Amino acid sequence: MLRLAGVGASPGIAMGVAHFLGGRVEVQERRIFTDEVANELRRFEDAIGRSDAQLRRIQQQIAEQEGDGQEYRILEAHRMMLADVHLVEETRRIIGSDQVSAEWALRRALDQIQAVFARIEDAYFRERRSDIDMIGERILRNLLGMTPPGHEGVPKGAVVFAHDLSPADVTQLGRAGVSGFFTEGGGKTSHSALVARALGLPLVAGVQGFIKHIRTGMTVIVDGGRGEVILEPDFEVQGRYADRAARDLVQAERLARAREAPAISLDGERVHLAANVELLEEVPISVELGADGIGLFRTEFLYLERSTLPTEEEQYQHALAALRAMDGRDVCFRTLDLGGDKLPTSVRIPAGNNPALGLRSIRYSLWRRDVFKLQLRAFYRAAAVGPLRIMFPLISGVAELRTVRELCSDVCAELQRDGLEHNPEVPLGVMIETPSAAVIADLLVEECDFLSIGTNDLIQYALAADRQDEHVGYLYHPLHPAILRLVRTVVGAAKRAGKPVSMCGDMAGDPRFCWVLLGLGLRSLSMAPRQIPIVKSIVRASRIAAAEKLTEEILRLRTEDEVEEAVNRVMKERFPIEFTEETS
Ligand code: PEP
Ligand code: MG
Repeated sequence: MLRLAGVGASPGIAMGVAHFLGGRVEVQERRIFTDEVANELRRFEDAIGRSDAQLRRIQQQIAEQEGDGQEYRILEAHRMMLADVHLVEETRRIIGSDQVSAEWALRRALDQIQAVFARIEDAYFRERRSDIDMIGERILRNLLGMTPPGHEGVPKGAVVFAHDLSPADVTQLGRAGVSGFFTEGGGKTSHSALVARALGLPLVAGVQGFIKHIRTGMTVIVDGGRGEVILEPDFEVQGRYADRAARDLVQAERLARAREAPAISLDGERVHLAANVELLEEVPISVELGADGIGLFRTEFLYLERSTLPTEEEQYQHALAALRAMDGRDVCFRTLDLGGDKLPTSVRIPAGNNPALGLRSIRYSLWRRDVFKLQLRAFYRAAAVGPLRIMFPLISGVAELRTVRELCSDVCAELQRDGLEHNPEVPLGVMIETPSAAVIADLLVEECDFLSIGTNDLIQYALAADRQDEHVGYLYHPLHPAILRLVRTVVGAAKRAGKPVSMCGDMAGDPRFCWVLLGLGLRSLSMAPRQIPIVKSIVRASRIAAAEKLTEEILRLRTEDEVEEAVNRVMKERFPIEFTEETS
């Protein structure tokens, strides 16, 4: 038995027979003579051509089955990398100057790029190295006449392992019935991780150096929650995980039975449960999981992974596709939230000394009004077709909101002038993510149609603690008394104004906090799609009066630890099955 540590990129447990799906191609250094250089350069060109043709074929298959969604565009980005100067020109240069084979030159160019990526501190960008890796391995395989890693013959229930997996691999293998994945590359924020989470399949990424330990056919356990892979588990460990997997299955089946049932508490209060999504692929999955709507559609992914900005038409089609997939349910699009930790290559954002407090989010949109207006035009046009809402991230005051609203009016006037069908009555909402917005929620709500509390940012700004920073992570706490009071202020302001308020930060999808949020008066929560069934089951087994009693009690406490202790005690006692040791 051998335990390998990685990063838990998608939770859940998979136990099964390991199946290897391609890996890092081993290349030896080979010197060539001067008169062989031209031939090596030609071999390299041919391999690039074949790689491009393969990617184009996969793209066509995806387009036929699912349209030109996110996966299609990621493959487009991969195809563009086939012309990347650092990869292609550098390989050509090494072949000529060092007189080595194309394979060896490419391996060296890839290693140089990886060394640069490894020094990047930002996790999102560091993980983009896996895209370069995937494309590099494909060219190498083509150079060596090896077949690209295929999906044929992967048995149902297998646990697939690979050097890295593309989002297309995860989708196709997931649909073919594999039970989980682990990879050497990738991480929590990779696209493959996003797709695995949407499909509910466990994935442990970043498991270093495992290839030498593992063979196809070995028994393996993937624990996506802990970020652990266990090779050839002993009898006792297998038994323990089998029990857990069986319990998870019973729980999943119980939750699935309530899929069609509405989230109504025992005392008859309806709670609206919506999904947070980033990719179109997650929209039908959200419906399957019982989402009442899309409460937060993060639009950044349309802008990342590409070197040009998306056109108005592209954004319009994207919004239409989401509305169609939701079949009459609300879709709330959040306008661009770039900057801070989300930086595309298609735009330049001055970093400033402190990106989290700098030109990010709505501030960027107001700085690049041309980019912002294109997005607004697409939304207003799509709103003529289905129930679309727009919300604005990181609003910090009324003046900013007024500027945004003026731009919205300008956009509607322009659409009118252009004779384009649109709906000027789109509800406009404000995300409450800054302490200033929370404190003046009563003023903001007077000038918009709804509020949505983004606790991920609100917590980090209110407590002045970057949640990505391991040294101050202990300060980042959703149950801090200051956060509870801010949420109470916002909900109270919206209720007094008779306007809808919801929460779309991660806090909304944590079943442990369900009573706290109901007790604070929230009746609309938006969360990662996979969280909907468990939160719904808690709502359906709760009385609002009990939640209010707990909330009253914790609002009197002084520290986050005291609050957490009180909340855990009540929730574990009341919901022993939902909050077993492993899940809490
Ligand atoms: C939030 O800040 O709570 C939020 C939902 O936005 P994001 O996580 O995309 O910053
Ligand atoms: Mg945010």
